[in-house]
This record gives sequence, C-alpha cells and structure tokens, in this order.
Amino acid sequence: MVQGAEAALHEPPCWEATVTAHRLCGPDLAVLRVRPHETFRYRAGQYTALESARLPHTWRPYYLAGEPGRDGDLEFHVRRTGPGGVSEALVRHTTAGDRIRLGPPKGNLALGEEPAGELHLVAWDTGWAAMKALLQELEGRLRPASEHRAGRVRLFLGADGLSSLYDTEYLTGFERSRPWLTVVPVTGGTPGEGAYDHLARAVTRSRPTAAGRALLAGPPAMVQTVTAALTRAGLPAEHVHHDPLPAGPRDLPGPAGTFGSAGPRMFQGQSVPA
Ligand SMILES: Cc1cc2nc3c(=O)[nH]c(=O)nc-3n(C[C@H](O)[C@H](O)[C@H](O)COP(=O)(O)OP(=O)(O)OC[C@H]3O[C@@H](n4cnc5c(N)ncnc54)[C@H](O)[C@@H]3O)c2cc1C
Repeated sequence: MVQGAEAALHEPPCWEATVTAHRLCGPDLAVLRVRPHETFRYRAGQYTALESARLPHTWRPYYLAGEPGRDGDLEFHVRRTGPGGVSEALVRHTTAGDRIRLGPPKGNLALGEEPAGELHLVAWDTGWAAMKALLQELEGRLRPASEHRAGRVRLFLGADGLSSLYDTEYLTGFERSRPWLTVVPVTGGTPGEGAYDHLARAVTRSRPTAAGRALLAGPPAMVQTVTAALTRAGLPAEHVHHDPLPAGPRDLPGPAGTFGSAGPRMFQGQSVPA
C-alpha cells in the first residue's frame, strides 16, 4: 500500500480514456483506438505514457499513430515484449470499453518548419506508429493550396521478418498515390552481423546528403546503430533526431525497476517520472 502511494506521487498529470477498439495483428501485436474523456492535443511524432488499469501506477511510453480520428480517437500500436508488463496488459487483456490513462504528450520527432527537403524516416516495428503520424502531417502540408513542395521522403521500415510487418495495406495504399514517398521494407539480415546492421546499410545505401534530415523511432540499439551509420555517411549529427534513449535499469524510478531485454524487436522498458 505504501509502495502504491509512493508510486502515485510520481505519476504524470493524466487523461482518463476509454478503449473504443482493440485489433490483434498477430499473437503479440495490437492496434488500439482510445478516446480521451477530455481534449488531448499532440503533435505528429510524439508519444505519451499509458497506464492500464491492470497495472496501476505503471506507465510506459507509446507513440501516437496518425492524426486523431474525426471522433477524437487516438491510435496506438503495442507489441507485447514479455509476460506481466504493460504491453501484455494492453495486447492480451484489454478490450473495447476498458479504461486506461494517458500522460502528457512528449517527444523530439518533428517535421520542423521546412519539411520539403530530403527526409529519411527510419522505424523498427511499432516505431512505424510515429512515422504514420509524421507522414499524415506531411500529407496535410502538401495539399494543393499549400506552399510546401514535396522533397524526397524515404521511409525505411525494419522488422524481424516479413510476417512482423503490419498495417501494410494502409501503407501500400498511402505510398501508391504519393509520388514523393518511397517505402523501403527491410527484413532479414546476415547471420553474424548486428541485429540492425542491415537496416543501417539500407539507409546509408540511399546516399543521404548533408542537407537532409533523419527521424528515427525504434529500440535503443537500432537508434544507436542507424545514428552511427548516418553520421559516418556524412549526415551531421544535429540532423538526426530521435527520442531520449532510456537510461539503464538502475537509473530509473518507480516500482517497475525491471526491464525487458532490449532484444531486436522491442523498445526497452521505461518508467515515466512525473
Ligand atoms: C519513446 C518511446 C516510445 C515507445 N513507443 C512504443 C510503441 O509505440 N509501441 C510499443 O509496443 N512499444 C513502445 N515503446 C516501448 C514501451 O514503452 C515498453 O517499454 C514496452 O511495451 C515494454 O513494456 P512492459 O511493461 O510490457 O515490459 P517491461 O517494462 O519490460 O516490464 C518487464 C517486466 O517487469 C514486470 N513488471 C512490470 N511492471 C510491473 C509491476 N507494476 N508490478 C510487477 N511487475 C511488473 C513484468 O514481469 C514485466 O514483464 C516505446 C518506448 C519509448 C522509450
């Protein structure tokens, strides 16, 4: 009880919300739609902490996928990383009608003022959620009446295998009618090399120019590998943007001081301080 009360003191300000839809895309991945009870404003590319009623006072960050729907619903893509955590609660034990809580939106991924230059969007697995939001915002900026002209946009989407790619129908349809966008799915890899080396190779093979920008979303090891490859390839470090990498387990507060391993498919766990 004392531990619960202490955890509550460290909680972020929050929005109550109701799950309006829960769709499984395979055994370990769910796309959730969630309706906040009060207005929840965010920018494309941001994430927010989620708390499931099944694990009170345990918050984990998840990207907000796409723009809010007409009904104000928000979309989240959640990959279950193991037993007992928030991801399992959201993927396996949540249905429409359940209540969850959201923390305030945060994040470093943004198109910036001038999105018309060369842009590399690089995501692994559910990092796609952030890119979906950024692509939708870019699309809005490029509507006929807008002053923005399309630069070259490449989306590199990494996954363990073809079967781990999801939301592909949406993405295929989106790419088909946007000549400014090239989607490069990256799966497989060579035995013996690092888990994200093939993704880094695919990104640098496209010869990013020093004037371009890159936005990255995915597991810390993927972000580190691709950032290093991009800077070696000549992209200035300040042109590579990603969210803060989670600190090591001992640096993090909260009752969930245990973390899933940073395996190739997952983001590392993170408690969200107030
Ligand atoms: C910026 C950012 C954005 C992210 N966006 C996404 C996204 O869009 N989609 C996505 O799938 N992931 C995303 N993640 C990763 C996500 O935040 C979680 O790290 C991931 O879902 C694993 O969390 P978990 O609680 O299931 O497991 P862990 O944090 O690894 O928990 C490990 C284990 O600790 C134990 N545990 C946890 N809490 C408790 C508790 N309260 N009591 C007792 N035991 C407990 C359980 O045994 C659990 O399995 C993002 C991460 C970051 C940093």
